[in-house]
Amino acid sequence: MNLILFGPPAAGKGTQAKRLVEERGFIQLSTGDMLRAARASGSDLGQRVAKIMDEGGLVSDEIVIALIDEQLELNRGAPGFIFDGFPRTVGQAEALDGLLKSRDEEVNRVIRLVVDDPQLLARVTKRFEEQGRKDDNPETFSKRLEKYYEDTAPLVPIYADRGILTEVDGMASIEAVAAQIDAALKETA
Ligand code: AMP
Repeated sequence: MNLILFGPPAAGKGTQAKRLVEERGFIQLSTGDMLRAARASGSDLGQRVAKIMDEGGLVSDEIVIALIDEQLELNRGAPGFIFDGFPRTVGQAEALDGLLKSRDEEVNRVIRLVVDDPQLLARVTKRFEEQGRKDDNPETFSKRLEKYYEDTAPLVPIYADRGILTEVDGMASIEAVAAQIDAALKETA
């Protein structure tokens, strides 16, 4: 099962991905987490991406595609993958298709968490206060949201045309969102 959890920053993708990891043994592939880990380790890669991330921009397709490829290889045979925060551009989506095809696989389902902008802003303000993530400050967050609408939202009609997109009300409670996701996965399996 190759599942994309899709949506703007702070839509709840990470929360739902972690639950699916616990309940189903899926592997969560969050490019944001991978990039933050690279920064924390002080690696070359981490240093290269730091400024872009702090400004709310997108890291190059080449870098994130290589990270995903590496993780798919390391976790061969896993019962499922959850792509969280990837793909974020049409180029990344095409690359993901290619990576999966070379392994005789495909994207099976895309779950889009739909949350309106005021709610996203409220969530990220709270997260900023609690966790102090630099790119959650209101100014940087609005840049991230802009990038989402510009570069990432165009993927919605692409997956809809393929008939693999499920839209979920991401404004509902965590439990209600989880139930909607589980129902979509039941249909996919
Ligand atoms: P996230 O935790 O998914 O919101 O990611 C945090 C930041 O990491 C983003 O604002 C981007 O700067 C960078 N990033 C994460 N995933 C990607 C991706 N798939 N493509 C480009 N940049 C990414």
